[in-house]
Amino acid sequence: MKKVLSLLLVVVLAFGLTACGAKTETGAETSNAAAAEAQGGKKIVGIAMPTKSSQRWIDDGNNMVKEFEKLGYQCDLQYAEDVVENQLSQLENMITKGVSVLVIASIDGESLTDVLQKAHDAKIPVIAYDRLIKKSEFVDYYATFDNFKVGVQQAAYIEKALGLKEGKGPFNIELFGGSPDDNNAYFFYDGAMSVLQQYIDSGKLVVKSGQMGMDKVATLRWDGATAQARMDNLLSAHYGTEKIHAVLSPYDGISIGILSSLKGVGYGTPAQPMPVVTGQDAELPSVKSIIAGEQTQTVFKDTRELAKKAVGMADAVLNGKQPEVNDTKTYDNGVKVVPSYLLEPVSVDVSNWESILVGSGYYTKDQVTK
Ligand code: BGC
Repeated sequence: MKKVLSLLLVVVLAFGLTACGAKTETGAETSNAAAAEAQGGKKIVGIAMPTKSSQRWIDDGNNMVKEFEKLGYQCDLQYAEDVVENQLSQLENMITKGVSVLVIASIDGESLTDVLQKAHDAKIPVIAYDRLIKKSEFVDYYATFDNFKVGVQQAAYIEKALGLKEGKGPFNIELFGGSPDDNNAYFFYDGAMSVLQQYIDSGKLVVKSGQMGMDKVATLRWDGATAQARMDNLLSAHYGTEKIHAVLSPYDGISIGILSSLKGVGYGTPAQPMPVVTGQDAELPSVKSIIAGEQTQTVFKDTRELAKKAVGMADAVLNGKQPEVNDTKTYDNGVKVVPSYLLEPVSVDVSNWESILVGSGYYTKDQVTK
């Protein structure tokens, strides 16, 4: 008898849910959300990441899945291999599938206006992850690092390494920027120039190529090979006899391209030492390169902490609570100022990699040294 009753209950519930989907008047996507939730008994989170070509985004995705699962959510994690159209169709699919919330690290921050309109119509809140989503009012919150400070830390490292504050110079420097469709790239560049511009003005730093400003120094999609090709050109056109002393690089993958180019023309020997080369993300190959005396610096951004922040924001929104923010002024996306939480970046070089990266458990010593 008990068995028959339970069977009946299952059938009634199943019909109830189908009926609920059919009866909903607030639009197909909303009923999809209810159905999606009901099928697994868990709310589904859509996580859209830009690319697997960089370890940081793989870690970001995995860290978020871990945190969301701890809270009882199910995740749909997608990577778009840096192709905007892939990301758009992944987001469309997530919306159709009926996710409860979207967490998005965009490829092109200005390409999501239409798809976010659809998310809004389906009552799906949106958290921008690490990169600001622009030109949409339907971005609820933004979890990131203090991006201006990342640039300041890269440039302050160059300033110190060259002794610019002590009046040393003139030194030759070339500047690299990140992807022009990523809002962060402008913050990194502006942060760096807030330190370097004064020395360029006084002649203590010389950009022999004359290439300055994001319109001249940007690197589409943060691509290392693109940066390497540009560095090859800069070296052959402007550094025949003169030496280069520093390269502002905004990201480890770009730094690797720059370093290959420098090695190609003989830098990295006692007679011709590497210039100061900065970076960002503390990716393993670059940490190893720092230990080997090639890349000079990187900026560590703890993706575990960023994942926790974004997950906390999503969970708060889904529970009708106010997420914690610490910046309501900086990130104007062209339509609104997106309430943000900014985490602190940390400058890393050969003197502190062990305490910062191994000490915090981000890497094991073996990972870094083997
Ligand atoms: C991120 C950086 C990263 C870069 C390239 C930026 O948006 O903030 O951490 O180095 O993208 O992936």
